[in-house]
Amino acid sequence: MGQGVIGTFAGPHDPGTAFVMTYHAFGGELVDGAATWAYVRGGMGAVTQALATRARDLGVEIRTSTPVSSVLVENGKAAGVVLTDGTEVRARTVLSNADPKRTFLTFVPAGSLPDEFVARVRALDTTGSVVKVNLALSELPDFACLPGVGPQQAGTIELSPSVAALDDAFADAKMGRVSARPYMEVYLQSVTDPSLAPDGAHVASCFAQYAPGSIPMDRWNAMRDGAGDAVIDTLASYAPNVKRAILHRQVLGPADLEARFGLTGGNIFHGEILPGQIFGERLGARTPLGGLYLCGSGAHPGGGVCGAPGWNAARAVREDLIK
Ligand SMILES: Cc1cc2nc3c(=O)[nH]c(=O)nc-3n(C[C@H](O)[C@H](O)[C@H](O)COP(=O)(O)OP(=O)(O)OC[C@H]3O[C@@H](n4cnc5c(N)ncnc54)[C@H](O)[C@@H]3O)c2cc1C
Repeated sequence: MGQGVIGTFAGPHDPGTAFVMTYHAFGGELVDGAATWAYVRGGMGAVTQALATRARDLGVEIRTSTPVSSVLVENGKAAGVVLTDGTEVRARTVLSNADPKRTFLTFVPAGSLPDEFVARVRALDTTGSVVKVNLALSELPDFACLPGVGPQQAGTIELSPSVAALDDAFADAKMGRVSARPYMEVYLQSVTDPSLAPDGAHVASCFAQYAPGSIPMDRWNAMRDGAGDAVIDTLASYAPNVKRAILHRQVLGPADLEARFGLTGGNIFHGEILPGQIFGERLGARTPLGGLYLCGSGAHPGGGVCGAPGWNAARAVREDLIK
């Protein structure tokens, strides 16, 4: 039920949430045709590490220590990037998987893009909605409805009792509050991949909603602990041992996701995947600035670890280079 609103600042009755649900079903076919999501052994970072290893094998130099400050524009075309330490990296082609607002409004120098395109990027809805609570646990949650340890801890645990409960959770957020009784998906990855925690201990990640939109860091600072408590209280109402099992907790809201991962607004899809921002109305890989391509979630078809925006961008670059 929650798949229609996951990652989205919208309630279950809002238009377009059926697409959000459909979008999240695409990945279900990836694992041997089973309608399921998958974990990556070693955690999500293993995906980018695998890509990095393959790229280095092919002679690619990867630099991660210094952020990009701007795209270098010469003769109306992207000609490389400038790093925050002033280093110029010249290139025929620049691909950005930073979100569209970051890419076009902060990296590309003013005046290098058509005004109407800039206005379109400015208008993108990048509202954040997610409260992510990561837990280190001394024992697995023991669910009152199905006590003991078994398959109940191995899959996606969706705490979303009814459409009315989702409505209530979103109503809080629309009023500028964290949901008192959040909807959440809980994953206990260490059940499937014991390498993620010491013997006997476990990790839990709770993907909860709603944060009250993309509020500034000072307002979020005052709400963060309460948001974490609401998530843990809700989880504990199903698995009462959770509170005593918590060794460490980390609570991240939209402002944290923006500050730590560079996601404008803390929107996990680089922009909502709602009508007006999907299919032909989502940005594409090619941009109005020759030589600059968008290869991340802000481009069609959208967010998630699906690889499709990168695939589209790679194809566009190849076609343009052999023209
Ligand atoms: C809490 C959370 C839970 C999620 N859960 C799932 C899930 O279960 N399944 C799923 O498929 N997807 C999930 N997602 C979404 C998924 O993580 C993203 O869709 C995916 O990471 C997008 O990849 P990307 O390469 O497009 O962009 P990103 O992974 O956002 O990468 C953009 C990169 O640009 C970098 N950057 C920004 N500014 C600069 C700069 N100035 N210089 C250099 N680099 C810069 C950032 O550091 C970042 O590494 C989740 C996201 C979040 C935040």
